[in-house]
Amino acid sequence: MADDLHNLLHDKLKEYFGFTSFKGNQEAVINNVLSGKDTFVLMPTGGGKSLCYQLPAIMSDGMAIVVSPLIALMKNQVDAVRYNSGNESIAHFLNSSLSRVQTKEVKDSVLLGKTKLLYVAPETLSKEDTVEFLSQLHISFFAIDEAHCISEWGHDFRPEYRRLRAAIDNINKKAPVLTLTASATPKVQQDIIKNLKMENAKLFVSSFNRPNLYYEVRPKPADNMQLHKEIIRFIKENPNKSGIIYCLTRKRVEELAELLMVNNIKALPYHAGMDNKTRNENQDKFLMEDVDVIVATIAFGMGIDKPDVRFVIHYDIPKSLESYYQETGRAGRDGGEGRCIAFYSDQDVERLYKFFSDKNMAEQEMANQLIQEMVSYAESSVCRRMNLLKYFGEDYSVENCGCCDNCLNPKERIESKEEMVYVLETILATQQSFKAKVDSLS
Ligand code: ADP
Ligand code: ZN
Repeated sequence: MADDLHNLLHDKLKEYFGFTSFKGNQEAVINNVLSGKDTFVLMPTGGGKSLCYQLPAIMSDGMAIVVSPLIALMKNQVDAVRYNSGNESIAHFLNSSLSRVQTKEVKDSVLLGKTKLLYVAPETLSKEDTVEFLSQLHISFFAIDEAHCISEWGHDFRPEYRRLRAAIDNINKKAPVLTLTASATPKVQQDIIKNLKMENAKLFVSSFNRPNLYYEVRPKPADNMQLHKEIIRFIKENPNKSGIIYCLTRKRVEELAELLMVNNIKALPYHAGMDNKTRNENQDKFLMEDVDVIVATIAFGMGIDKPDVRFVIHYDIPKSLESYYQETGRAGRDGGEGRCIAFYSDQDVERLYKFFSDKNMAEQEMANQLIQEMVSYAESSVCRRMNLLKYFGEDYSVENCGCCDNCLNPKERIESKEEMVYVLETILATQQSFKAKVDSLS
């Protein structure tokens, strides 16, 4: 019986997607979804999350609802499914980009009963007429993509996500729920489970290690000229390679892009303050390799699937380790070289704290804690990879990762009293966790 299902899954994988084997946890996840249970998937970017709902949706009776915050990408995703399967009516999307007439066309087509996947934006799902429409249909399951958007602790909180559970209950309480995210720290994870009432969900966690990414933190020169020289030198030493430079402010993005261009580097800016047309053009030029470097605020990148980004530079330190992991994660998606360099200074940290100082107490406290975690990462002299993975609740116990600044150039000298205290504290903490482990074994 299990063998039959195994063979059937492989046949469908080949038939609809052209792949010969599953990646990582995919098959186990799909089995769990098909068995009608709630499922929680944590998988790093590029791990192959889409297949985890697309394949079971195609194989189930009825239609699966896929909630995704990325309106701009829904059309691409739907087109890809249609193209792979050679079937137009297999997938549709509903979001605010559709006119009234287009929305009606989608609904009419869905009513014909041939649709297996309906992508819906979160704010659209919560609308009364959407709920009314969907509750008359046979829903196989709900897939909630980018599920970290539900949590204020995540890097992309979207209040609409908090209304999903109510909408799902109104449409079909009994349909199983599958949540997917590439970015759940334990805190975010608990938020998702609590908010979607998924205490009984089976959890599938993949390793978040990205072995091909090289992590480095550099002291940020106080003199901007010197910093810019260093960045320009780095880019010139890496000719024709694609890279992203993240800055905190739009003004800095504009200035730096300008400066790079003046220095004969093919670079363009990208931030939320630019008009849509120019912004999209700049993004396309980067994807098509007309430009090498995109200088951007964090507005750039969600859903960007350029496999050969060779470096990600953080001009300013990001506001959390989670953001840092996501942003650096855009490098080396094809498994090739990916250098991640963050510039760090005390002044920038002060600036971050100040940035949140006019927010309410709760927000401030949360932000301060996230910044503090970022600071201890940047100032640490232990393996960056181990530090990052620990943040995601993952034990990484390789002594020397061979691919971060601290492992390649271990600090030989202890330069200050603070550093000495820090090193001693780290040793002590490691000893304690080691002892706890030994205790738990005996
Ligand atoms: P994620 O959403 O986790 O970032 P995607 O679903 O976009 O990942 O998948 C990442 C890439 O891996 C895509 O190019 C996809 O076609 C490919 N992929 C997914 N599953 C498989 C598989 N079983 N075999 C080969 N390639 C796969
Ligand atoms: Zn290391």
